[in-house]
Amino acid sequence: MFGKKPEYASCEIEMAARIGRKGPMTVADFMEMAGSSYYASQSPFGRAGDFITAPEVSQIFGEMLALWIVDIWLQIGQPKKVQLIELGPGNGTLMEDMMRTIETWPACRGAVSVHLVETSPRLRRQQEGLLRKYKPKWYSKLEDVPDGFSFIVANEFFDALPVHQFIRKGGRWQERYVGFDPRKNEFIWMLGESAFDIRTVIPKKFMDSKEGSIFESSPVSLSVMEEIGRRVKKNNGAALIIDYGHTTPGLGDTLQAVSKQRYASVLEKPGLQDITAHVDFETLKSIVENTVEIHGPTTQGKFLEKIGIMQRAETLYKNATGQQKRDIDAAHHRLTAPTEMGNLFKAMALTRKGQELHVAGF
Ligand code: SAH
Repeated sequence: MFGKKPEYASCEIEMAARIGRKGPMTVADFMEMAGSSYYASQSPFGRAGDFITAPEVSQIFGEMLALWIVDIWLQIGQPKKVQLIELGPGNGTLMEDMMRTIETWPACRGAVSVHLVETSPRLRRQQEGLLRKYKPKWYSKLEDVPDGFSFIVANEFFDALPVHQFIRKGGRWQERYVGFDPRKNEFIWMLGESAFDIRTVIPKKFMDSKEGSIFESSPVSLSVMEEIGRRVKKNNGAALIIDYGHTTPGLGDTLQAVSKQRYASVLEKPGLQDITAHVDFETLKSIVENTVEIHGPTTQGKFLEKIGIMQRAETLYKNATGQQKRDIDAAHHRLTAPTEMGNLFKAMALTRKGQELHVAGF
């Protein structure tokens, strides 16, 4: 009775029960259930959490993004009403850093309202604590945010969205599922027929891939992207997507689980660790390239250098102590070095077609 409580997330039991009732679930359903339980119950971010995102590395990241936004706002003729929409704002750190910077342009600050697309009630509360003075509004999905001139920012949002996995086995493509073995009390990988028409999911060039090849597809990401494209076209403004991923669609299993800043087994503790997949930028781009102007994708390192992270670091240097200078250098390195976040993370922007804009960073 007084023994140590087993560490399990309630979703683990729920997921096993659902598999018992309905049979194995797709990798996407597994990611979705584990993810919403994770973001609802855990404190994922920062040094004490499971992973460190760019805004948690340094305030410079959000400051640079704000400068990028203000630059476009100025070029588009300083519209009087601007919605700043963030998808998956996490702790709220990025929005706070952006808004603090935007405040140094009173005309822009006066135009901006803050809109947060967040599904986790727990993170909403955290965001409220940090961002109250900006009177943010919350939404469960982008579709619910009113139309209107907007900047849309998504940092490490798409990587959390569910992917389906397909495996080439026995000379044909099958879908990967997650089952549950009640004797061993563990989740297991399984294969089965897919409810998707394989010919519409697997790109032609991969159709006859070798045995064991894995292909990932995220229909949810594509529909979010479509909505972003629709908004940029209709309402004007810009969208900036930063995430870790690849610029050419490839084969391979990119699902990963992270707990306390270490890789963990994807199936082991659903709801207690962060599960993500690489973002396929090329496919995201292909969904909207007829609708809007696309800039990039480029690497996060190049993007930040081109929009002046070096100059920003030098400005901060002027009033910094020795330790602060070392912190600035460390943050700069972490955000831009190819061996750190610089290469793996990519940045891509969307603006309305047919405008004479210089979109910085690309
Ligand atoms: N952008 C933040 C946090 C990234 S983590 C940062 O850079 O630090 C992913 C965020 O997306 C979390 O806030 C999570 O709750 C949210 N999220 C995940 N899936 C979502 C969905 N389908 N709709 C809205 N928000 C979602």
